[in-house]
Amino acid sequence: MEEILMLIGGERRAAALGHTFERRNPLDQSIATRAPAATATDAIAAADAAALAFRTWSVTGPSERRTLLMKAADLLRAKALAFETTMAAEIGASGVWARFNVHLAADMLVEAASMTSQISGEVIASNVPGSLSLAVRQPAGVVLGIAPWNAPVILGVRAIAAPLACGNTVVLKGSEISPATHGLIIETLQDAGLPPGVVNFVTSAPADAGLVVETLIAHPAVRRVNFTGSTKIGRIIAATCAKYLKPAVLELGGKAPLIILDDADVDTAVDAAAFGAFANSGQICMSTERLIVDESIADEFVAKLAAKAQRLPLGDPRLGPVVLGSVVDMTTVTRTNALIEDAVGLGATLVCGGKSNTTLMPATLLDHVSPQMKIYHEESFAPVKGIVRVQGVEEAIACANDNAFGLSAAVFGRDMARAWQVAARIESGICHINGPTVHDEAQMPFGGVKDSGWGRFGGKAGIDAFTELRWITMQTLPRHYPF
Ligand code: NAD
Repeated sequence: MEEILMLIGGERRAAALGHTFERRNPLDQSIATRAPAATATDAIAAADAAALAFRTWSVTGPSERRTLLMKAADLLRAKALAFETTMAAEIGASGVWARFNVHLAADMLVEAASMTSQISGEVIASNVPGSLSLAVRQPAGVVLGIAPWNAPVILGVRAIAAPLACGNTVVLKGSEISPATHGLIIETLQDAGLPPGVVNFVTSAPADAGLVVETLIAHPAVRRVNFTGSTKIGRIIAATCAKYLKPAVLELGGKAPLIILDDADVDTAVDAAAFGAFANSGQICMSTERLIVDESIADEFVAKLAAKAQRLPLGDPRLGPVVLGSVVDMTTVTRTNALIEDAVGLGATLVCGGKSNTTLMPATLLDHVSPQMKIYHEESFAPVKGIVRVQGVEEAIACANDNAFGLSAAVFGRDMARAWQVAARIESGICHINGPTVHDEAQMPFGGVKDSGWGRFGGKAGIDAFTELRWITMQTLPRHYPF
């Protein structure tokens, strides 16, 4: 069991009231982590500390910010084993998922480091003689980052790396499901030598999340919010940000379609589908949630994918290497069992896997999924995925867009021009041709449309999100006034 503390103004702290909460391992219910249960007092202290540190961090030069972020990337990689152990304990994640998390999160720190010297503005011609007119990007202030548990290293780092690179100070509100994993990120940044108050870390019990988050959003020093998590909570965050007029980046749920056109290379499509659907037991916002297959090749595709899915190793990640570890809790199992029951009851065929009574859920495929079934519309966020058979390109596109979400998508087909036209018509922030729906790189603009949220992380998009664009003029000649 790990006992963790928050970080406020460079000090490791328990909650002001001394309360704690526990995160239990999903497989054996042993206590994985005991963490401070913050209240509004702690939230205000964290935002105050960040506001104080902003005075110096916002004027710290790019080279120094870059050096610290690069060092943090190295230290993060060096902690790979600790992340693996902690992720297995808190969320039951496989080693392969933990290692990918550390790899991409370290890349995000390196990318953020490289951005420190890329924050630029422009000179804009003015109609006023002698007016030198500049568009200048400045740090925004304190940035609140709220991250979920499912890719805890990637999403915890993503919430704060670009904001820090831009000269903002941050408060990370850790997930109650992965507090020690998020805590390890904070420890890494502290070890790298970021000055006190530049990074602050608050954890809260599930019941207090609303109060702690609203207190932070309301704090006058907090100038930007970013939230990664469910669409349900994203709507609450959006409403709270509207109330206090704080701009927010919202990275929410997904229901990614993978379209397999009639000319697709079936074997490569199967590999991409298996990876996209079952990596981290399907608990990724970009997970392949809907396999939309042209009827002409559907039998071959389904048979090959089912054969591959059945071979994926499943088990307790603490005992050895697996592809499918534990899902996050029994609520996921109950919810997903109900999705399977509903689909089969309405005519879907169970191709492989099936219902589970533990959090070790097998890779499950349901064929002949249709719009009246819940799994056609709802994010499963589990290793249970539906196959929809369609006839032709138009039906495939209509099916892909027949959903409230719009984060990631993919199209497989040998005719690249046709595949490009299909990709262009899919309503999603991200689309890959002949690649899996699960694909993230630190320098890419990442984000969704529709119910998947708004705003973008990644590369230069992060600079837009976490700086204030100001117009500053300098009058260099006598100016004419009308009176
Ligand atoms: P969640 O929305 O339940 O929780 C996310 C965060 O919200 C947690 O830190 C939690 O403490 C906080 N929270 C909970 N209740 C709150 C409230 N009333 N007010 C303010 N904050 C509150 O999400 P989750 O279950 O942890 O994560 C899974 C979801 O996240 C899935 O829907 C998944 O698709 C989505 N996700 C999206 C992306 C993306 O980049 N678009 C990435 C990963 C996960």
